[in-house]
Amino acid sequence: MQELGHWINGAHVAGTSGRTADVMNPATGEVQAKVALASVAEMNAAIDGAAKAQVAWAATNPQRRARVMMKFADLINEHMDELAELVSREHGKTLPDGRGDVQRGLEVIEVCMGAPTLLKGEYMNDGGPGIDLYSMRQPLGVVAGITPFNFPAMIPLWKMGPALASGNAMILKPSERCPSTSLRLAELIKEAGLPDGVLQVVNGDKEAVDTILDNETIQAVGFVGSTPIAQYIYGRACTNGKRAQCFGGAKNHMIIMPDADMDKAADALVGAGFGAAGERCMAISVAVPVGDKTADALIERLVPRIEALKVGPYTAGADVDYGPVITAQAKERIGGLVNSGVEQGAKLVVDGRDFSMQGYEDGFFVGPSLFDNVTPHMDIYKEEIFGPVLSTVRTQSYEEALDLVMTNQYGNGTSIFTADGDTARDFANKVNVGMVGINFPIPVPLSYFTFGGWKKSAFGDLNQYGPDAFRFYTKTKTVTARWFSGIKDGGEFAFKAMD
Ligand code: NAD
Repeated sequence: MQELGHWINGAHVAGTSGRTADVMNPATGEVQAKVALASVAEMNAAIDGAAKAQVAWAATNPQRRARVMMKFADLINEHMDELAELVSREHGKTLPDGRGDVQRGLEVIEVCMGAPTLLKGEYMNDGGPGIDLYSMRQPLGVVAGITPFNFPAMIPLWKMGPALASGNAMILKPSERCPSTSLRLAELIKEAGLPDGVLQVVNGDKEAVDTILDNETIQAVGFVGSTPIAQYIYGRACTNGKRAQCFGGAKNHMIIMPDADMDKAADALVGAGFGAAGERCMAISVAVPVGDKTADALIERLVPRIEALKVGPYTAGADVDYGPVITAQAKERIGGLVNSGVEQGAKLVVDGRDFSMQGYEDGFFVGPSLFDNVTPHMDIYKEEIFGPVLSTVRTQSYEEALDLVMTNQYGNGTSIFTADGDTARDFANKVNVGMVGINFPIPVPLSYFTFGGWKKSAFGDLNQYGPDAFRFYTKTKTVTARWFSGIKDGGEFAFKAMD
């Protein structure tokens, strides 16, 4: 049985707490590894190590730190297939999707190559008589990243890139369900030149997280996961005086207007609803057709597409559409929610409940389900299912559809399919959701923008990656300077490099 420990001070170390968690193979239902769960003492020691290493790293000039990011990006590209396989092996997503997971993280590292531009600060010459003002962006110190199971490469990279490029040290606490990718990324960034101790990967559960939240050395916490945990971590981190940004769950709606291209809308819905078995915070889980004719036309197109979906293990080849869900509990919970939808009166148009994967009967595969006539009071509407289940809520007008999105407790992503620019523009302007797609189902912004939801999908006030991440991981210091006299002769004539 493979045993996974921690990555501390530039090396793999075994756990000493005596506690471990099972890392499952979701396709077979077998335990494929045991991952160590850090004790309070182990976590505190890792934080102390990071604090020591951070001093020299912060003093390393930004372009040298950026060069580590350049080399890191090269190494991620070089090891793309290996990293994708690590992702798929523990998460269960298909290999092309695993590569996408790595790719969308890599793109944030690419932006971090330009970190010096984002860390420049501001300057005003002669703000008063003989007085200059300038502000600096300085690293916070030791920060923490706490990440979910569903993007084992992308989200750790979103966390570590901007934090490290800004001169911080980071404690990365990956999901205990998919820990291997973070451990491998730690090896690669060391090879890229990151000094030992600047990135510590500490595996663990609530005990490790609570230790991070209570440790006075930790200056900031970046969390991604479910909403109840996001809210808990945000509260405890803030109470302890830390900076916190905590991204939570979602219920993403796609409005389909009567003038939309129905085939394109149906294709988009199938990919966005069932890709990665629906285990994406940006998955579309609610289709909102406007008008019964639109709804009928949409359902008619969705059914054959959903029935044709190929479910299977990532090893089965490139034509598999999605793999298993993450655990037996997740599978059971999804089945329970589908049952509740039927009991509460929704029409189950495609029933994925009895799906069984031949040869993988113990795996956590869930067949795709499509509901029609869902209403906002049903549990399948209220809860984030995080599985291959698409609910259709029929509306009779654009205003009613907009209101549905606006009154939902979550506000991560949303989308509208229409041929009318005015409707699309009105939707983008009015909707209270952080990321909006127009004829685009999963509007995860590119890495030089920022990522973040509204309402119960995010706690804190700055987004992940892009310029916001550099604001989050640095603090501003402003200097007001006056010099009474100076040396005005002598000089250097050689054009010298700054480093
Ligand atoms: P989760 O909340 O169960 O776990 C996330 C992290 O929190 C893990 O590292 C876990 O070890 C830790 N954790 C779990 N329970 C804890 C507790 N009681 N106290 C302290 N720490 C705890 O989430 P998950 O199941 O791994 O991920 C799926 C969720 O993440 C979904 O809700 C999804 O929408 C959300 N998500 C959000 C985004 C976003 O950017 N908004 C992105 C990806 C996933």
